[in-house]
Amino acid sequence: AKGTGRDAYCFFEASMNANVHKQMRLVQELRLALERRELVLHYQPKFQAPDGPMFGVEALVRWQHPGRGLLSANEFIPLAEKTGLIVPLGAWVLDEACRQLAQWRYEGRTEWTVAVNLSALQFSHTSLIDTVRNTLARHGIPPQRLILEVTESTAMRDADASLAILQQLHEMGVRISIDDFGTGYSSLLYLKRLPASELKIDRGFVRELTQESEDAAIVAAIVALGRALDLRIVAEGVETIEQQTFLTELGCDSLQGYLLGRPMTVEALAEAMAQADAA
Ligand code: C2E
Ligand code: CA
Ligand code: CA
Ligand code: CA
Repeated sequence: AKGTGRDAYCFFEASMNANVHKQMRLVQELRLALERRELVLHYQPKFQAPDGPMFGVEALVRWQHPGRGLLSANEFIPLAEKTGLIVPLGAWVLDEACRQLAQWRYEGRTEWTVAVNLSALQFSHTSLIDTVRNTLARHGIPPQRLILEVTESTAMRDADASLAILQQLHEMGVRISIDDFGTGYSSLLYLKRLPASELKIDRGFVRELTQESEDAAIVAAIVALGRALDLRIVAEGVETIEQQTFLTELGCDSLQGYLLGRPMTVEALAEAMAQADAA
């Protein structure tokens, strides 16, 4: 029995080592990915409910990994957050999204907004304000056209410090969106003080909306709360026509999801827009 235990331990240790090595290698590769220009942004459109025009996009980062193909954000963002790489990575995302928005504006899409996701670590970095201000200036973007998406739990971490940063961004004219709303523990008092202009209902509530009456009640409550605080309400993860209809009836202002448009390359987005214009 002793022998078996020892073997099991070695096996465990070996597989754990393999995992650690794999992670370490990925970190090294991610460090290089920025210089090697392996990161790309995909853009997912946001629409006015129920089937109004597209008014903006959310930038979602992807990694064109040389050996593993296109990796989605979930596959490397947590690692970037753990290692601090999210700070340079996030600065690159912001720059690239603003560069692209400037290009769209040049092409006549002056009404579009671009939304960029922020991680807690970027948020606790004092340079964030300067990074945002400089990036907007570099690309000639009016601050009102940039939306920064901050999750409810990020905004709640060190609430007073977060509030001060959000306040400065707000004074700059940048719009703040509270992402994944309903998954954190914001007090209503805190929410009231947040200088946000948008609230995104977490996909988890949208998923079973048409089957679970609790989820419908929760969405209705979030919409009412958002209304009271004068926030634009966005529903994310809209995958079916039933969800689209229901969310509109519940009072959501904007919709985002695979039903209406997946995250896509700039080229694919241009093609989709051309088709929409022709229809
Ligand atoms: P998120 O901000 O909540 O973004 C929405 C995620 O849901 C995206 O996954 C998007 O591709 C996916 N999605 C959109 N519509 C649908 C739908 O109808 N159904 C389903 N099942 N999924 C949908 P993605 O791109 O893998 O991003 C995952 C998370 O990674 C994001 O969640 C965000 O928190 C983070 N992330 C992505 N890009 C960035 C970035 O540039 N910086 C930072 N800090 N985080 C990022
Ligand atoms: Ca988001
Ligand atoms: Ca979200
Ligand atoms: Ca999320």
